[in-house]
Amino acid sequence: MVAVRRATAPLLLAGALLLTGCSDDAPAAPPPPSPAATTASPAPTPSPSPSPSPTSSPSPSSSPVAPPPVAAGKVVVLDPGHNGGNGAHPAEINRPVPAGRGQTKPCNTTGTATNAGYPEHAFTFDVAQRVGKALADKGIRVVYTRQDDTGVGPCVDRRATIGNEANADAVVSIHADGSEAAGANGFHVAYSSPPLNAAQGAPSTRLAQTLRDTMRTSGFSAANYIGTNGLSARADLAGLNLSTRPAALVECGNMRNATEAARMTSADGRQQFASAIAAAIEAYLAS
Ligand code: ZN
Repeated sequence: MVAVRRATAPLLLAGALLLTGCSDDAPAAPPPPSPAATTASPAPTPSPSPSPSPTSSPSPSSSPVAPPPVAAGKVVVLDPGHNGGNGAHPAEINRPVPAGRGQTKPCNTTGTATNAGYPEHAFTFDVAQRVGKALADKGIRVVYTRQDDTGVGPCVDRRATIGNEANADAVVSIHADGSEAAGANGFHVAYSSPPLNAAQGAPSTRLAQTLRDTMRTSGFSAANYIGTNGLSARADLAGLNLSTRPAALVECGNMRNATEAARMTSADGRQQFASAIAAAIEAYLAS
């Protein structure tokens, strides 16, 4: 993106944002007077497997395929960080919104980019779409916090609200970092700590750990510059703070690292990230 610099504060928009890589991320959920939603989770494909058999069909003993997807009928909210129109709308995205723990944060940020200019918002949107497709193929209902990569926002608090109102079984925010530290590379997964509600406790921690474990077994290295063993306990991320559902945020890697940038810039590489994230979500839902 145009405003992205290489040096110290690559992500500052109008001079007011404190982003360093992509710190501001996920969602939030204050009190828009929306009465509806929090209860009913629609379940488009509640039946276990693709078998079109009606109500009670004992699984055909012939089935050579895998067991029924335990996760079918679950709801997953995918939250691709940032948005393509943010950079052109500084006033809108700098507007402070509730961030949890009594704090406020800018509505949203531009995100980071590779040194060659491939933006984080494009990466996160593409990966989220790939993750969503994989999950939908398993009968999981997928809700996205944004539908395209050309809009503005939504604000971090609104993103959290989307997860809450969908009564999501898991909320995963997808980002990429922009650390300038020499040699900084690897993924990390953030979760809310200390937790502000039950969902932010054991369920969110387990979601984060499952993402971490699956990223590792999929061949990705844990970050060598932030967090511990690929996990990062955070109290400053609006989306995580404001979530009332199990939630975690994946920083897939460091866009300023040449090797990781190359992977993120290629469609094959993005599919690798997406496959790992989708597998992690499925494993979490099934456990
Ligand atoms: Zn980000």
